[in-house]
Amino acid sequence: MTSSKTSFYKIPKFLISKPKTRIICTIGPSSSSKKQIKEMILEGMSVARLNLSHGNAQFHKMCIENILEMSKQLDAPVGILADVPGPKFRIGKIETDILKLTKNDNIIIDLSSENNKNDSSSNLQPSLKVWPPGIENEIQIGSELLLDDGSIKIKVSSINKEKINCIVENSGILKSNKSLVIPGKGSKLNYFTPETKESLEFIANNEIDFVGLSYVRSENDVERVKDFFSNKTNKPKLISKIELPLDLITLEKIIKSSDGVMVARGDLGVQIPISKVPSFQKKIIKLSNKIGKPVITATQMLESMIESPNPTRAEATDIYNAVNDGTDALMLSAETSIGKFPIESLKKMSEIALEAEKDFDHINFMENRNNEDLTTLVDEAISYGACKTAHSVQAKLIIAFTESGSTAGRIASFRPEKPILALVANKSVTKKLSINWGVIPLPAPKFFKVQEMFSAGSKAALETKLAENGDMAVLVVGMPIGVPGNTNLMRIMKIPEPELNN
Ligand code: PEP
Repeated sequence: MTSSKTSFYKIPKFLISKPKTRIICTIGPSSSSKKQIKEMILEGMSVARLNLSHGNAQFHKMCIENILEMSKQLDAPVGILADVPGPKFRIGKIETDILKLTKNDNIIIDLSSENNKNDSSSNLQPSLKVWPPGIENEIQIGSELLLDDGSIKIKVSSINKEKINCIVENSGILKSNKSLVIPGKGSKLNYFTPETKESLEFIANNEIDFVGLSYVRSENDVERVKDFFSNKTNKPKLISKIELPLDLITLEKIIKSSDGVMVARGDLGVQIPISKVPSFQKKIIKLSNKIGKPVITATQMLESMIESPNPTRAEATDIYNAVNDGTDALMLSAETSIGKFPIESLKKMSEIALEAEKDFDHINFMENRNNEDLTTLVDEAISYGACKTAHSVQAKLIIAFTESGSTAGRIASFRPEKPILALVANKSVTKKLSINWGVIPLPAPKFFKVQEMFSAGSKAALETKLAENGDMAVLVVGMPIGVPGNTNLMRIMKIPEPELNN
């Protein structure tokens, strides 16, 4: 233990004033330099996201190095999320880079295995390659296929051994590597497509805290990825991206087997009619809240800011609603990766989230979250108890001693009004908490006696200025000390707690 005169627990000021709702920023050419990353951390980026479907390993490695360096320099635990492509079809390389498709054109999907290039040189009947192989098993005559996130629609007119003939239903310009989806259903592809496997290997070998699992179809996909990481040193948290029209039972199983979920509205809006996206988003958020897993709302949150320094009223309202519906985190995609105003987008998102949080009904949320699981799960019950008690005694903060981060995450899932200070013995866990609503993670020493924890909690509250002498704090501890996932002890403390003299 450190002496009471030495200041041991420090939180940079900018981390205290950021919204409780976490902000994830996708890193791309507009935001990959050290200077930009530093600015984004200062403006409230909690998690930096890399989309492994775009860019190459060299670019992603450079981004990771920059994020780690800036995170260390600013003493801010910024998490890194990397999305893997998942079992999704894509158009192969187009020889001429772009292919102009005109309504009523005939176009061929070439199933021959010669190479993965597209021959668009023939003006009469352009032909496309689709990757990975297997599209012929998923379609029939009359099937509609959406290219490039739905911007181009083609319809299958005939199928033979080597070719699928299609008719273009609406004009557009197609580029290499764009998505091809059959709306309304996931593919039958093995989850571990060659690109997905390569991305997972990259994640296993780099300091990445979260994996975004694209196109998850059932909990089996999640379990297979869990198995993949079981013998790896890096064990990232698994975030299932919901992009398919899954039924509620499947959704519940996926949420339970994942560490969190993402409402991936981009692909979702291609898979289901756009008019159904808002209600599906709300269902996913509600279910994740009920189960107590973090949920991210993603895509087009500030789309207009890709080109403009100001958001639309509708975008501001979308962020407000997501926060008050119970999202843990908000995500920026093209706004920060390729947009003209990455920092401004982040600032606006943070500003709107802070305003939205003023209207957040903590008590109502806590009581709704208080579901039947509390009667059977000790750690659920104690987390709820801590939040309720903190409210009753008007505590200034809740202090969670956490080995794996799960205690702090569980408390966050009840959305207490006051800050949650997570004291973690393992520094790498601080980054794993970067996605959880309202958690302020702070590295702490390893403790061997519960009284040491109480004294350290009091000291941390004072040194971080989250409380003053005379204030109340609620502490949550797992006993026996050192056993993860065992939250079972709550203490109400009037600060300061006397230090041990042993
Ligand atoms: C989405 O579809 O909304 C999403 C976040 O995934 P991606 O960026 O891979 O399209």
